[in-house]
Amino acid sequence: MYYNPRHGRAQHAQDAFQPDGTRTCGGDKTRLLLRDAAFVHPAQLPNGRQIMLLKTLLTSACERDCYYCPFRAGRDFRRATFQPQEFAGLFMKLHQARAAEGIFLSSGIAAGGANTQNKILDTAEILRKRMGFRGYIHLKIMPGAEKGQVERAMQLADRVSINLEAPNTERLARLAPHKVFLEELLQPLRWVEEIRRTQPAWKFWNGRHPSTVTQFVAGGADESDLELLTTTDWLMKNVRLKRAYFSAFHPIRDTPLENKAAVDPLREHRLYQASFLLRDYGFDLEEMPFTPDGNLPLPTDPKLAWAQSNLVERPVEVNRAEKRDLLRVPGIGLRGAEAILSARRTGKLRDLSALRKLGIAVARAAPFLLLDGRRAERQIAMF
Ligand code: SF4
Repeated sequence: MYYNPRHGRAQHAQDAFQPDGTRTCGGDKTRLLLRDAAFVHPAQLPNGRQIMLLKTLLTSACERDCYYCPFRAGRDFRRATFQPQEFAGLFMKLHQARAAEGIFLSSGIAAGGANTQNKILDTAEILRKRMGFRGYIHLKIMPGAEKGQVERAMQLADRVSINLEAPNTERLARLAPHKVFLEELLQPLRWVEEIRRTQPAWKFWNGRHPSTVTQFVAGGADESDLELLTTTDWLMKNVRLKRAYFSAFHPIRDTPLENKAAVDPLREHRLYQASFLLRDYGFDLEEMPFTPDGNLPLPTDPKLAWAQSNLVERPVEVNRAEKRDLLRVPGIGLRGAEAILSARRTGKLRDLSALRKLGIAVARAAPFLLLDGRRAERQIAMF
């Protein structure tokens, strides 16, 4: 796992897991968790609902030595480990205090990935079966987990994730030399999809197959955006990855990459924008406006860059365009395209004020639109 200090995750996770007595009164781990509410984050569920999510580790001890990670073996800080029953009890106290509605549970690796996975699974099983927790659970699949464990995780969780960290074997070797890209990381993603295809949804805890996500350390291995998005696109098409998370590399003190420059956080943002264009807007990877070095331009968002190259001379007629063409116009999102299609059923759209009432960002969209045959941007001055 990669905790980006820019997001405040590493420090808070570390603080939270100082062993008894070092940061708390009397070693009270419950009070410690409640006090460190900073690692309870607002998060959007797959259904769009926003909840407060406890994102944390079962143990901050790890036997692996990933170059970018604050929890890597041999790094000098005090670590803490929770047993499944203990941790489930702590979470339920947080939940009953209304401090956290759901949990995202990961772990450092101790005594092998399969052993660590069992502890994560035991925690989730106690929450679901003994404590009756029916809220949101997101479980991390550990490198080295077995297929049966992946299946058990899917039966308990709303979402499972396997962090690829890098887009391919060569890049991963520069970040985490003891992780095996194909067998340890990609294979569990394939298992998840195989299990979803072969097992009916009613077998899973809430009658639905859990979704899958992954995370990349963007820029940690000097990989290009093209490499990251090629892998993301493949995963979305082949194993139904719900989304990829991109975390811009930031050096951690006392790690082998501590002198490597931090990656511009804007790169992370551009990667998200491009991945949503691939997932939701009908764009192909080949259409992304990559620079010759395979990266997205930082100053311009990828949809705008594409439109500037492709739509200025061929603007989209709002009154006739199909949904897929409307979606290519900057300023028109998924809801905006639907609103235009719906409004067209009752009459022609002739001016930008009508589009603005439909929720379209007209200043962005106008240079690429025709309104009943006339260039929409000419109306901008009157706006
Ligand atoms: S496996 Fe690697 S990324 Fe995960 S906690 Fe251990 S050192 Fe960090």
